[in-house]
Formats: sequence, structure tokens, C-alpha cells
Amino acid sequence: MKDFLENQEHKYEIRPTGKYGDGVFCTKKILKGETIRVFTGERMAEIPCDIMIAKGLLNNDDVFQIQHEEYLLLDDVSIRFNHSCEPNAGFKGESTLFALRDILQGEEITYDYSATVDPHNFTFTTMTNCMCGSAKCRKSLGNVLSIPKDILEYYKREGALQDYIINELNKL
Ligand SMILES: [Zn+2]
Repeated sequence: MKDFLENQEHKYEIRPTGKYGDGVFCTKKILKGETIRVFTGERMAEIPCDIMIAKGLLNNDDVFQIQHEEYLLLDDVSIRFNHSCEPNAGFKGESTLFALRDILQGEEITYDYSATVDPHNFTFTTMTNCMCGSAKCRKSLGNVLSIPKDILEYYKREGALQDYIINELNKL
């Protein structure tokens, strides 16, 4: 897996956004449906993860949920992708980021953080002040159920929800 990731052609680079720290920007056109990156990191159970966040050792957005009670402590590159309420990328499978539409050179690559957060998880419900700048900005970020219905339907149609999120939504 590691070799595969290292040999994969990267079509992005990390640089300052000028608004909210670093971001990941497209360096070569990415076509709709194309895999951008498989997020990796140390696997962590929910409770130690929550404790580290409570102690200030981790931020909410340093971790990425992959199961009902399991997270990835994101690698140095994956961690730099920012949220947008109007993203150009989404997740499928466990942690595969792919293009929701064609992404042009120079565009920041973003995904909807809320789409990756368990309906039972309330950690994100207090996250406020989204600064994505989109006309559709929701201002504050909650779990997957906080996403407006039409947008959630759009993610479903595009296959842009992780397997575990689909399972969790089906259980409701
Ligand atoms: Zn926003």
C-alpha cells in the first residue's frame, strides 16, 4: 500500500491559503471521479481520541473518522486538506478522496468535513465559524445529519459518502 501511494502521481501541492493556514492545491487538472489521495494514518479508537482532544493534544480536524468508533490520526499531507461547504472532492470506501467534479490547476482541493462525521458523534456539533467563503456556507459544522437534505442527496448520488456513513445512515 505504501509503495502504491508513493508511486502514485500527485496532482497537488501544499501551500498557504492566505485565509486559514495551509491548504492543498491542484497542480494538474484532475478529472471528475479521479482518485486524489487515500488518507492514511495511525488507527485510533474513539475513547483515547476523545481524551487527547479534551487534553488539547489533538484538534478535532487532526483525526478522520473511518468507523462508528474508529479514527485515523491523519498523516502530514492528508491533514492539510481543508473543509468547504461547497467541496470539489468527496470520500468513498474507507478513506479514498476523489474528485466530485473536474478540478482545475490552482484550485484548492476541499471536502465536506461534516460528510465524514458519524450521526452519533457530537464532537463536531460545537465547531463554529466556518470560513470556507462559499455562498452556500453553513457557518457552523455538525455531523453528517447537519448537512442540508439536497446536498446530502447529491453526495449519495455521486457516491461521495464513506461506507461506514452509509451504514450508519441506513440504521437511522
Ligand atoms: Zn462553510
